[in-house]
Amino acid sequence: MDLRAIYKDANALLEGHFLLSSGKHSKYYLQSAKVLEDPKTAELLATKLAELINEAGIKADTVCSPALGGILAGYELSRALNARFIFTERVNKVMTLRRGFEVEKNEKILICEDIITTGGSALEAAKVIQDLGGEIVGFAALANRGFCKIYSENKEQKKECKLPPNKPFFALGNFEFEIYDPADCPLCKEGSSAMKPGSRGN
Ligand code: ZN
Repeated sequence: MDLRAIYKDANALLEGHFLLSSGKHSKYYLQSAKVLEDPKTAELLATKLAELINEAGIKADTVCSPALGGILAGYELSRALNARFIFTERVNKVMTLRRGFEVEKNEKILICEDIITTGGSALEAAKVIQDLGGEIVGFAALANRGFCKIYSENKEQKKECKLPPNKPFFALGNFEFEIYDPADCPLCKEGSSAMKPGSRGN
């Protein structure tokens, strides 16, 4: 599967000069909601992801996503895995499980995001589940930004990755972009200024 082509075709892989939430600059930006705009694409991606999880012998009763970004991907994945779906959300910046969702003791739960950068939100969701007695069987995302190690890859995870190294992490592919400090940004040196993604109403 050519993940990059799927993202490009959906205008989910933007090219320009972007100011990221970290304060760094980048030539690319992933607008992952755009790739899930077409439910058929979402279904296709989730089906492929479910195949990787099944092939690895990982069984999940439930998929849990951190809101908001992970919900669409997680919901489609739960359908493909024939599992239940719940989501965590932040209340005053603290990740919580609300809306009547419950976790049974030792329930096998897979955490799903749309894109894993360092995996911070996914890890927070996993901690909520574990505190409620659930068992984390793995992590999944449609795309990986290259900091964390995908299950099938034979390499070390980078120090920025917050996912626990002893749990499998499944993703359909990597998007490894260079990011720059504003002071060293080659795009700034060429004279353009960095734009916050979405600042032109998209
Ligand atoms: Zn720049």
